[in-house]
Amino acid sequence: MQRHRDSLAVYIHWPFCARICPYCDFNVYKSKGAAGDDLVTAMALDLKYWRSVTGPRALTSIHFGGGTPSLMRPAQIQTLIDMCKELWSAAPDIEIGLEANPDDAEAALWSGYKAAGLNRLSVGIQSFDDEVLKFLGRNHDGAAARRALELACSIFDNVSADLIFGHAGQTQMAWQSDLDTALSFPMTHLSAYQLTIEDGTAFGRAARRGTALDVDENMSAALYDVTRDRLSDAGFSHYEVSNYERGDTRSAHNMAYWTGIDYVGIGPGAHGRITTDKTRLATVAQMTPSGYIRAVSEAGHGGEERHPLRADEVAEEYVMMGLRIREGLDLKHSSLAGKVLNIEDLEEAGWVAREHDRLKATDKGRLVLNEITRQLLLT
Ligand code: SF4
Repeated sequence: MQRHRDSLAVYIHWPFCARICPYCDFNVYKSKGAAGDDLVTAMALDLKYWRSVTGPRALTSIHFGGGTPSLMRPAQIQTLIDMCKELWSAAPDIEIGLEANPDDAEAALWSGYKAAGLNRLSVGIQSFDDEVLKFLGRNHDGAAARRALELACSIFDNVSADLIFGHAGQTQMAWQSDLDTALSFPMTHLSAYQLTIEDGTAFGRAARRGTALDVDENMSAALYDVTRDRLSDAGFSHYEVSNYERGDTRSAHNMAYWTGIDYVGIGPGAHGRITTDKTRLATVAQMTPSGYIRAVSEAGHGGEERHPLRADEVAEEYVMMGLRIREGLDLKHSSLAGKVLNIEDLEEAGWVAREHDRLKATDKGRLVLNEITRQLLLT
């Protein structure tokens, strides 16, 4: 996989969902499936604008996230993939991925995505247990989750399943059963996210009223260990806090975030990071679909905000992200040049381990990444 300074990733945010899940804090809008052609047209123009800012780059990944991008039609996906490839040169092993909802599992639709150029499908399974899915406010049930994973694996060589653990009352056995069901399919990648209760969500409001929705710290650590042990027995390698690969199947899209590769964010509320003339810009697009479309038609791009990050912010972001992956961060990374890093104390605490020019978080350290980042850069 190409990882040089001229690399670029593109993130495309499709902001619509058929139903809003109570734990979700993404920028999403309820819609059963608005055609959205005007949004696709705006996105294509926005891509052109960003090409004028980034100049020529090697595209390592295009990622359709959301929201629910599996509400998009294959022709819409094709328009945006073609535009990206026309504007930048695609790396030979480019990853073109999409986050799909099990509700949208239709052979014609997903085969259409593959024909449009998609080579990775990540399916938002969350659980195979009907009760858990109901609790999470999902539209699909366990049978639909199984059907979706089977269909995805029959169409794509590279399939990831997203699962969520850590809801109140979950036992290790119940979680292991979800993992075992997932492992009965020939998928290549698995993301196991812990349920987090965010302010501003329905779960956040319920938690403030005193409802227990997630497990305590001890159970959370036990479930994390079950995940790692079970997946490693099944031949998956744990390469990031929440992510496991079978073979060389890391998510190139997420690796761009974790290794500091630039990315363009297209679509309502999408974030980007672009390095120009030694400055790293943080960009955010207009939040609402109508505001985004209007901004593109008036200004030629959908950006609401952009500002250069300070050197300490760039370093902090790089450290925080780099410590998430197994091989850790590169101590020679440009963002750390000239910085005195407080490594010894962290090694003594057993939180990090140094190997040549890399600094990795230990299992113990992965639980306190914020604190490591703060102390490492404390000079
Ligand atoms: S389907 Fe995904 S993006 Fe949409 S509301 Fe649910 S969790 Fe959020």
